[in-house]
Parts: sequence; C-alpha cells; structure tokens
Amino acid sequence: MRALAKTRPQPGSIEEIVVAEPETGVGQVLIEVAAGGLCGTDLAIRRWDDDIAAEYAPDFPHVLGHEFVGRSVALGSDVEGIEVGRLVAVNPHINCGRCYYCNLGRHALCLERRIMGCHIAGGLTERIAVPADNVFPLPGHTDPLAAALIEPLTVAAHAVLERVPLAAGDTVLVMGAGPVGLLHLLVAQAAGAAEVIVAGVAADAARLELAQKLGAVAVDQQAEDLQAAVRRVAPRGADVAYDASGHEAALEPALAALRRGGRLGLVGYCHAPAPFHSLPLALDEKEIFGCRAYYRDTWLRSTTLAAGMAAELRQLVTHVLPYAEVGQAFELLDRRQCMKVVLCPET
Ligand SMILES: [Zn+2]
Ligand SMILES: [Zn+2]
Repeated sequence: MRALAKTRPQPGSIEEIVVAEPETGVGQVLIEVAAGGLCGTDLAIRRWDDDIAAEYAPDFPHVLGHEFVGRSVALGSDVEGIEVGRLVAVNPHINCGRCYYCNLGRHALCLERRIMGCHIAGGLTERIAVPADNVFPLPGHTDPLAAALIEPLTVAAHAVLERVPLAAGDTVLVMGAGPVGLLHLLVAQAAGAAEVIVAGVAADAARLELAQKLGAVAVDQQAEDLQAAVRRVAPRGADVAYDASGHEAALEPALAALRRGGRLGLVGYCHAPAPFHSLPLALDEKEIFGCRAYYRDTWLRSTTLAAGMAAELRQLVTHVLPYAEVGQAFELLDRRQCMKVVLCPET
C-alpha cells in the first residue's frame, strides 16, 4: 500500500513510497485513512530543522501524518464498542499512562509520549493500526474533510476551554491567522466570546478575509495599529489572548492588548526568545500560560464541538490533493498560499 514518508534525515526527502500492510494487534483498530492534514510540524520535518531532528528520531523511511481520520475496518480481538465502518478521529499521541503527569491527567506532559507521524509511523498512508483508546467515533454523516481538522481543533479546545478558559461575554484576541488561529476563533465563539479579534500581517490577507467571514474582527497589524483596534472593541483591553502565530514578536503586543488581570495562552512555538518588559505584567497582574497540544479527554470535547461546526471547518480546507502531489502540498504550505491542505489516498 502507499504512504507518504520522510525518506532520509536531510531537508526535503518526502516521497510517496510502498509500505507493508499493517497487522491489527490486540487492543488495536485498523483504520482505512480517508484524509490527512499537513501543518507547521510537517513543514519543519520537511525542512529537517535542528529541534525537530533532535526531538523526533524516527527510523527511515518514516511515514508522516498526525492529523488524520478514516474508517474503522477491523478490530483487534479484545476491542469492543467501536463500530466497523464508522468514520473515526484518531488522537495521534500515545501516552505511557503510568508517569506522574499521566496520573495527573496531563497527558501532553507525559515523559514517554510518542506521536504518530513524528516518533512512530503516522497516518498519511492507506491503512494504519492504532490503539483503540486513541480512536474517537464520529457521527455517521460527518464529512471526512471537515473531520481532518479535528486534531488541530483539539489543540484550540485545550487552550480555549482548559488552559486559559474564557467566560461568556469576553473579548478575545488571537494572534495569528493560520488554521490554528482560526480554530481558536471558532472555539472562542462556541465558548461564548462576545468578540474575537484575529491579528495577522499583510501576507495573511486571504486568511484575514476568511477570519472576518467567520465573524472575527480581522486586523492586519502592518496596516493598522493593533492596540487601537483592540481598544475600539474593548476599551479596557482584551480579557484573554492566545498566541497561535508562534512568532516571538507577537507576545509583547498580545500582552499590551490585555486588560488588567488578563491572561495570555502560548499555543504557537517560538523558536527565539520573546522580548517583553515584565514591569507592566507585574503591575497589571497579567498572566501567561503554556498550552501544549491536548489531554486525552480534550478529544471528547473537540469531537463533539466539531459536529456543530462542520461547515466552518470545511471552509478552512482550501486544498485537497492526492498523495502523488505531496510536493505541491508542501509548496503551498511553505508559501502560506493556503489555509489547511488535506491529502487523500484516493483522490
Ligand atoms: Zn499538526
Ligand atoms: Zn506518561
């Protein structure tokens, strides 16, 4: 069967290859993959950034893909409660279940966490066997292309509902207009935010337009003063902010845009130190929270949320390509000429 793999530990080197059919082991579910998204992590794997090469140490060729959905087609001998033929979302994180952090329920901090598509083989393939605990059945009518966004939606749900929860009526600032930023917009709306401001840069014009269409106040920070734009919506400042840009230059303006006592969630991964002055933070009792991926139970919330926002999720999928066009998929991602790029084995 076909799969998309990183074939060598060097930049580029992502190809369609032929791999063996998986065995469905005890406790596993065999998934026939319907759709899989690409994200910034995949781009970093393609570039073979130093931090990726150090943290994710796969054997080669290594099958990519941590954002995928598919149909359950076979169950391991002891698996119950999962219907065969059902579209399912897959939590790509395998946690040890025994360490201090797993016992706290904070699975993202597991000391032995392994991620499909990063440490172990991923879901950009025709079929994959995964632990039954990682499988979340979806309603029967679910569109696989919308469902391909459930993994990054779960990241947003973790930040907006669990790490830095907002209250109904809050004004929310989201830094970054990429897929993760817009998923924060959708979850914040679902959680009752009064207004959500999405901040991007000039190169994000198409993304900001989509944010606006989805109900955000969209701000191009290169054309407009962000602080003034936020104060027009919320004179005291935003109640909550999330950085989904992963750019170190975003943190100071995000903090400045918060009201006194406001909270900032760090979702994007900055690769350089972020400069900010701590005095206003101390005087205004603002708070900063790290947000890493999600916990296992976050999937229970995100799969329910996804069912209610399928049309919006589908709008975030701007490109659907066959495996043979993986090179073009990465080019789109690299040049930010897309929102979410989804690869399908069948198209
Ligand atoms: Zn991802
Ligand atoms: Zn653990």
